[in-house]
Amino acid sequence: MSLRERLAAQIAAGGPLTLAQYMTACLHDPQDGYYATRPAIGGTGDFITAPAVSQMFGELIGLWAAQTWRAMGEPAAFRLVEAGPGDGTLMEDLLRAAGAAPGFREAADLWLIEASPPLRARQAERLAHAAPQWAGRLDDVPGGGPLILVANEFLDCLPARQFVRTERGWREKMVGLDEEGRLAFGLSAPLPPPFAEADLPVGSIREVSAAQEAFGLTLGARLAAEGGAALLIDYGSARPGGDTFQALKRHEKVDPLAFPGEADLTVHADFAAVAAAAVAEGAAAAALLTQAQFLGRMGIEARAQALAARRPDRVETLGRQFDRLTAQNEMGELFKVLCLHAKDLSPPAFEEAR
Ligand code: SAH
Repeated sequence: MSLRERLAAQIAAGGPLTLAQYMTACLHDPQDGYYATRPAIGGTGDFITAPAVSQMFGELIGLWAAQTWRAMGEPAAFRLVEAGPGDGTLMEDLLRAAGAAPGFREAADLWLIEASPPLRARQAERLAHAAPQWAGRLDDVPGGGPLILVANEFLDCLPARQFVRTERGWREKMVGLDEEGRLAFGLSAPLPPPFAEADLPVGSIREVSAAQEAFGLTLGARLAAEGGAALLIDYGSARPGGDTFQALKRHEKVDPLAFPGEADLTVHADFAAVAAAAVAEGAAAAALLTQAQFLGRMGIEARAQALAARRPDRVETLGRQFDRLTAQNEMGELFKVLCLHAKDLSPPAFEEAR
């Protein structure tokens, strides 16, 4: 039975699913889930991410990690963690660049938080030289030392529920069945929403990701207790709102109900909620930067020029990569960078009074 047929049978027997339940099934069903079976990142896949656009992306994050480690007082041992490392490109570029700081590689105990068995296999190949270990969740990464965590396009995979303000109050968007037994969106009966500002105009949409919040809580508690910093890069806006649930297949937006398990399903990162969760646990959250601001402060222009000077044949390509990462109409504005950190630490690029 296909995942679509199994979901239809489940809904027929047990009632409609929340978007979060539908997302979890489509992404992580052990037999047919997108990440469990066919994660396709890159030019020939379903979506392309910043580490695949240019080595500069991971290298500048590596520079950030090395400078953060210095600001932490160069601890002789720390956990270097990546959440959702994909094919391992970001971490490979990060390690190469951060390795320029004497002692960084030796001090780093590398942990990868990854749900997908095929991606774990790719990471194992690519990062064998750094002897990584894997965890299913941040809670499973052992404590007892400070943390430097990075994640690119991780929060957006974490499932969210969606609520719509109607004439009759808030109702939850659900995945049910139409008369022909096909997957179809519907609305629940009116219900009290799981957030405070219940008094928005009719037609308002709010998304709530318990999984993103839980990640913020765990991360905030870790940073507060053990020290360190985290860099969370994703698409999203500073203030939540609207329907951001989408499906991508071969770089095209498709109907999220049309290809269960065969398309990547995402929502925007809810930076405000993740930051609030971390702060509630005693960590600090720096003001959100756009990807263009962050990469600019880390010196992407100088990096591009240095690479171009060494490889004059690649000047044009590097220019295109630079634009793709930083231009307003490309990834520069939509992508944001949230830095969470221990209160006594001031990570590079996020110092106040800039
Ligand atoms: N960071 C990479 C990959 C982004 S795709 C890049 O920028 O190219 C999202 C990544 O998060 C994949 O590695 C996916 O398998 C992983 N992932 C998605 N949901 C997860 C979950 N709940 N727990 C752990 N990893 C997850």
